[in-house]
Amino acid sequence: MSKLRIAFFVAVIAVSSCNAEVPDTSGNVSVQQQQDSAVDKFVKSDEEWMKILTPEEFRIMRKKGTERAYTGKYWNNHDSGMYLCNSCGAELFSSDTKYDSFCGWPSFFGPHFKEAIKYQKDLSLPFEERTEVLCARCDAHLGHVFNDGPEPTGLRYCINSASLKFIAAQSSSK
Ligand SMILES: [Zn+2]
Repeated sequence: MSKLRIAFFVAVIAVSSCNAEVPDTSGNVSVQQQQDSAVDKFVKSDEEWMKILTPEEFRIMRKKGTERAYTGKYWNNHDSGMYLCNSCGAELFSSDTKYDSFCGWPSFFGPHFKEAIKYQKDLSLPFEERTEVLCARCDAHLGHVFNDGPEPTGLRYCINSASLKFIAAQSSSK
């Protein structure tokens, strides 16, 4: 066997082993429960999310987009209730922690349960390191958290309306 032919075979083997490492993206992944973790994970493929979410919701929650300031449906919502993850329904923020930050997005000084939220360093802006806020259950992008919030936490969770689903508290008058 010539050296050239050996080199060819080595190259073929290298390429096929690379292919073997490509994850299966055929879309067969559905709801996955991990009973041993603190938060039950809710996993879907992009194809499945696209069937459930509007294009705008998909762009924001699954592709880390941002809605334009003052365009979302909840920045000016003052009703009592719970804000759920718009992807998986996890309880994320209570209206008790919502406040008027006038930044154009719904703002909260803390999550409903700290386990409901996941944090990730975001270096996508050239001169500003930000902390991304995600749903711990389904990894949906929610927004960012900043250090200019009110007491008692001093934090401002700046969240896209499109990432949230508001459920009004039931009136006790009836
Ligand atoms: Zn979620």
